[in-house]
Amino acid sequence: MAVPRPLQATRTIFEVLAALGRWSRACSTFHAFTEVLRLPKRQMTKLVFPLQELERQLTPDSRLDLHVKIFDPSLEDISKAESVFTASARNRISYLCSAVRLDHAPDLPSPEICFIGRSNVGKSSLIKALFSLAPEVEVRVSKKPGHTKKMNFFKVGKYFTLVDMPGYGYRAPEDFVDMVETYLKERRNLMRTFLLVDSGVGIQKTDNIAIEMCEEFALPYVMVLTKTDKSSKGHLLKQVLQIQKFVDRETQGCFPQLFPVSSVTYSGIHLLRCFIASITGNLD
Ligand code: GDP
Repeated sequence: MAVPRPLQATRTIFEVLAALGRWSRACSTFHAFTEVLRLPKRQMTKLVFPLQELERQLTPDSRLDLHVKIFDPSLEDISKAESVFTASARNRISYLCSAVRLDHAPDLPSPEICFIGRSNVGKSSLIKALFSLAPEVEVRVSKKPGHTKKMNFFKVGKYFTLVDMPGYGYRAPEDFVDMVETYLKERRNLMRTFLLVDSGVGIQKTDNIAIEMCEEFALPYVMVLTKTDKSSKGHLLKQVLQIQKFVDRETQGCFPQLFPVSSVTYSGIHLLRCFIASITGNLD
């Protein structure tokens, strides 16, 4: 018997919502590495080592163009790193404070890392994804145009401090000169700067402001490619190869391996957590 049209449409909506629910539940279980380890090997590799998955698309002689195994931790190391990012009574992970000037920044003995990138690059989403094992952490976002943006400090137990820097592109370079530049130049416990680039569009003019700053101050930095779920595999591979070429030829202080991530599918998030744990000396 034919189903009346309005009923069919309602049924389709329910089916779509159910599918979305299943998908979002599946993604939320990927916050925990134990769940990831239960995936079939191919799916697990794709989620944990996204560059290796992209490398498979290349011809054997062009595989050398992509540095996929400079940081190549074991699954045990990735599991170990997860405990650094898991909130517990003994490992308090929380927003600490905000500052508009370096002399207002907290004086902490632990190693520090910072995240910088253009407004809208996906910085808050990435920080939220990294902190998904500490769901009570509030990642503050100030999106109001003209609003003074601040450096936000998050304490990850006794392990390290993560600093969310104001996004550039809007009112840069003034904000940068006053705040970001001084921070990058003078912060003594800064171990690594994570420079976010939108994988869909590649390095933009405004990204060069941050790249030049890191190079000028001889800072060790890492390029994180965001929103990888948004592009087709072919487009993503093209962008990644282009950015890799830029890093190889034009930079001195940038870590040679790129970190593609998606805050939606969690692709690359576990590897990035492990890299952070490793460079802040918390993987031993
Ligand atoms: P910020 O200004 O750099 O902090 O950027 P946000 O984290 O606020 O993200 C800007 C926009 O991009 C928002 O609409 C996010 O939902 C979206 N976004 C961020 N990360 C991702 C991602 O990994 N995948 C997709 N598809 N969208 C993302």
